[in-house]
Amino acid sequence: MTSLKLFTVRGIDIRLHLTFPLILLWAAFQFGTASGAGLAGAVFGVAAVSLLFVLITLHELGHSMAAQHYGVPVKQIILSPIGGVAQMMRIPEKPAQEFVIAIAGPAVNFVIAGLMWGTAVLFNINLGDTLAVLSGYGGVSLSALFGYIFIYNIFLALFNLLPAFPMDGGRVFRSLLAMRLEYVRATKIAATVGRGVAILMGIYGLFNGGFFMVLIAIFIYSGATAEERMVKLRGSLRGYTVQQAYSPSVYQLSPYHNLQHVVDFMLMSGQSNFPVSQGESYVGFLTRERLEQALQTRARHTWVSDVMRRDVKPVTLLTDIYEVQQRLDAEQLDALPVVENGRCLGLITRRNIQELYRLSKIAPGSLSKVQSA
Ligand SMILES: [Zn+2]
Repeated sequence: MTSLKLFTVRGIDIRLHLTFPLILLWAAFQFGTASGAGLAGAVFGVAAVSLLFVLITLHELGHSMAAQHYGVPVKQIILSPIGGVAQMMRIPEKPAQEFVIAIAGPAVNFVIAGLMWGTAVLFNINLGDTLAVLSGYGGVSLSALFGYIFIYNIFLALFNLLPAFPMDGGRVFRSLLAMRLEYVRATKIAATVGRGVAILMGIYGLFNGGFFMVLIAIFIYSGATAEERMVKLRGSLRGYTVQQAYSPSVYQLSPYHNLQHVVDFMLMSGQSNFPVSQGESYVGFLTRERLEQALQTRARHTWVSDVMRRDVKPVTLLTDIYEVQQRLDAEQLDALPVVENGRCLGLITRRNIQELYRLSKIAPGSLSKVQSA
């Protein structure tokens, strides 16, 4: 476990990454020494950064609620020293939906900025002082804290709107491109621009001692590359179905095998996900994750039927490979059982899909033959 759950909002766990305390230490040190305010400065720093993460959480909740509105499940929001991430089960390919989800985060910050501005007017807080905050002479006071948060909030919205895919602005950019271009091509352009912005950001960070900026630049660069690869893979899988890629020769378990049997099968075959059938009928699926969990907590003579999963929906021979890939990612599985008329025919695995992808690149003709057969 690398993160700690704080609370849950609409089914979404808000979690702190284990490295999170580092940013509070950094803030205490930075504000304590830089302003020469000592302990009071350190307390100010911790308060400011904590509030800042409240803003980040609200920003991520903005994305999350928009995603849920379109039926996209949101697993959790993780807060780490370089910011927050809302982990969505998938990203809608409908450009309009991606646009709304991406813009919803910064929109939350703009609303907060408006509310804070209203509050400042109402209570006579001089936001002009926030300029002093920017130059580091804000002092240690409640209004300085207010100013700091006000500025940071706007900065957060604008920074996220940079066209640095996969940051919000980059997603907005991709969705706008995807309204006119093919999705894979739109992603390629957005990812290239994203990597360009990341390189500039990284260089700027390096020469100005912006450690966090360099981290964020690396994060953007690798994120753009990973997402581009995923979209390409999916694009080239379109049109293929399970029957062209699945493995028919797999070990199947009976519900009355015990865990020791499963370990033996596993060592013998190298297989780590097992369909479970009773007679001819498919009844469940024992995933690697579930098996490992069971081996740590249950006795060796425990029946497969006591630990197998019954909630994994099997695929059929005609299921789209693209859909299989999406489900494997969303449900964090390595394989799915292939079932026709209640009978399990085999498994479709990530390996199978990778092989199909490779073959579709080097010998597309060999696959279209299978397709028409
Ligand atoms: Zn965002």
